[in-house]
Order: sequence, then C-alpha cells, then structure tokens
Amino acid sequence: MSLYGACYERMLFPIANRVRGERTARLFRFLLETERWPAERRQAFREEKLRRLVRHAYDQVPYYRETMDRLGLRPEDIRTVADLAHLPILDRQQIRENPDAFLARDAHTRALRWTTTSGTTGAQLRSARCANGRMWAWACVYRYFRWMGIRLGDRRLDLWGARDFVPPTTASRRLSLWLRRHEKLSAYETTDAEVDAQVRYVARFRPTLLRGYASALHRFAQHAAALGVRFPSLRAISTSSDALMPSMRRTIEEALGAPAFDQYGCGEVLGVAFECEAHHGLHVAEEHVIAEVDAPPGHEGDLLLTDLDNYAMPLLRYRNGDIATVETGACPCGRPGLRLRSPIGRAGEYIVLPDSRRYNRTFFQVFFNQYPSVRVFQVAQIGEAELEVRIQHDGGEEEILHMERRLHEHLPGVTTVRFRPGVVRPGPTGKLQVIVPIARDALR
Ligand SMILES: [Zn+2]
Repeated sequence: MSLYGACYERMLFPIANRVRGERTARLFRFLLETERWPAERRQAFREEKLRRLVRHAYDQVPYYRETMDRLGLRPEDIRTVADLAHLPILDRQQIRENPDAFLARDAHTRALRWTTTSGTTGAQLRSARCANGRMWAWACVYRYFRWMGIRLGDRRLDLWGARDFVPPTTASRRLSLWLRRHEKLSAYETTDAEVDAQVRYVARFRPTLLRGYASALHRFAQHAAALGVRFPSLRAISTSSDALMPSMRRTIEEALGAPAFDQYGCGEVLGVAFECEAHHGLHVAEEHVIAEVDAPPGHEGDLLLTDLDNYAMPLLRYRNGDIATVETGACPCGRPGLRLRSPIGRAGEYIVLPDSRRYNRTFFQVFFNQYPSVRVFQVAQIGEAELEVRIQHDGGEEEILHMERRLHEHLPGVTTVRFRPGVVRPGPTGKLQVIVPIARDALR
C-alpha cells in the first residue's frame, strides 16, 4: 500500500464523492464495519432491506403487483430470506418479453441508467439501474480491494474491453484517471506482438493491482512468462468475466508473481461475490445482494440473485443463466455468510484468427449490445478466417449489412462473415453457447 493510495482513499475520494453528491465513500466505510458484525446483526440488516424492497416492488412494479396478487401474497408475507421461496423464480426471457412490467413507476426519479447485457447465454436484455444500486455495487468492489490489500489510490491497470468500445475520454475523466492513477489497456483486438508490447508497458507502469478478464490475463501471463518479464510492484491480480479455471490461476500467479483473486458479477446485478485473502471461495456481498443456488451445498445449481438496492428495476430471485456451487464449511478469514465456489460461470471460449488475434464472449456481447433489435446471437468459427453469426433480431436487412460491415472493420483478419438470421436454439444442455470455437483439429 502506498502513502498516496491511503491519502486518496481517506481524503480525495470522500471529497470527490461529496462534490458529486454520491455516497459510495460512506457506503464503503460502512461495509468495512458490517463485515465484522455478528451473523445475526448482518441477517437482520439484510432482511430489513429485503422487506423494504418487497414493499417497493409491490407498490411500484406492475409485474410484482400482478404476481403477488395472483399468488395471494402480501408484502408482509416475505419477511426473511427463507420467505423469498414464496416468490417464483424470474427468468431473463420474462424480462425480455415485457421489460416495462419490471420498471418501477417512480423509476424516473432515481437517476436511471440503462444497460444492455447478454449474460452468458447470448440473449440480449435491457435492464435499468438506479444511482443507489450503482453506489452500493461500487462500495462492494472497493471493500474487495481492501481484501486484496489494495488502497483506492494505488496504481492499477485494467486489461479490459476493446479499443473501439472504450468511451471517449473527456478532460474530467482524464483528470479522474490521473488522480486515481488508473490505466486501461484493450483486452481484445491484440495480436501476439501487441500483447508482448502490453507486457513491457505494464512492467514500466508498475501497477499494484492488475485487473481484467480471466482469459485476457491468462494470455498476458503466458506472454510475460515467455518474455521473462517480472512485475515486482504487483500485489494482487483480480479476474472476472470468464471462469477462472484452476490451471489458468496457476499460470497467472506463477508468471506474474502475485496472488489471483476472483470476482463475480453480472450486468444486471453488479457486485455479487468476491474472493478474500484466504482464497477459499467467493464471499457473497450479502449487504447488497441475496444469492441462492438451486441445489444443496456442494452441488451445482442455477444461481438466483436478488439485488437489494436496485429500486429502478427490482429483480428478485433472478435466474441469470449461470451455474454456481455453494461452498461448504467456514472461510479461514472468519468473515461470515454465504460463499460460492470458484470458478462461477463458464470457461472462456474464444475464436482465434490466423494473425493470432483472439476474441471471446465479452467482445461480441459488447458489439451486439449496440444493436437493441438483436434478441439472441451466437458466433461460430467455421473456418480459419470465417465466421458464421446466427442471429435472432427484429431489425431489417439493412441492419444486418451494417453489422456485417462493422464486424469486418473490427475483425480485419476475417475474410468471411456470414449472417444467418432465424431462431437460435440452445445446445443439448439447454444453454446457448455464445461462442462456438472451431475444433482445433479442423485447422490441421
Ligand atoms: Zn474469506
């Protein structure tokens, strides 16, 4: 931890928060206290939040009013986490079919922000989030920084997103990044030579924390090992987005010389679960979200999430499509509460082009999220430089041509992008695979 890091966290960050009228700094300090609360006090706190959320959902959200009336449920029937089971499980499909039914009538008063996500299944969903929900989610992330031994102003570098999707940099944003000593590099659209250049750049930048998609960090670590570059400044590596498989974790930790911490969230419910310094599963941020796994502890099941802080579009028992396992036994760190076993979600599948550039699920999700008419997509690599995009959408032929042109711009190594509109069907497991990589032996 650096002196600047501690100063930023204690002074600059709270001041900047106050200027912007935000409460993230306060919530962050509060969360550092709640994690030491006895289990009963934590339970009482979150159930109080749950009761408030259910009352709000019943009063303001058409779907919950209709569903609860139909089931003969009153808000006061749901008082505890166990009572949640009275409510039906909510699927992505239901929200996609009728998004307005999930929007609170008073949502416009809550500094609404919309995002489009595809989850792990390639089915697009537009969801809304209020300022309160965003601040809680960020406070949970910042507490996780503390678990990794990182202060908010410590030098950090993100291997994140693709070059063309990074939002335009304004003067105030540049200043904010500079104050936070925060740098971002593209995780996609990079050739092997560019990853080598990134390795050298990161070594010069001397970050304390390196964050990124598990698949991108894995590739970065392999390049660093091959080049023999070391990173003595690194204290922690944080992975997210793709499942961090045990072999990937080993490679990353050995090559980069710092412990890896896994983080889990999804676009609709941010800040769900985080690995602590004991590396014994991911602690669910229970002050902010209730996680249920539709299976006994130690067994895989559907993950169900209840976001306690999003009053714009309340999601209760939301099945986001990921599979998780509840970790058994207590964590050696002593923090109470539910933990999920790492990895959560699915291993990163990606396509590899002849020029060594590789693109995974997140790349295509961000790309297709720009087209609201796209309902479901799947990208299959059918040849060395040939892709087939299976797509279900409400737009016209012209939009397909637009997507095709833009994909070619983003994927210079691809000779053919063939669009196949129609119904996209899930595989034998009932899940849709977003990326269908080519069988590697098909290329030999
Ligand atoms: Zn722990």
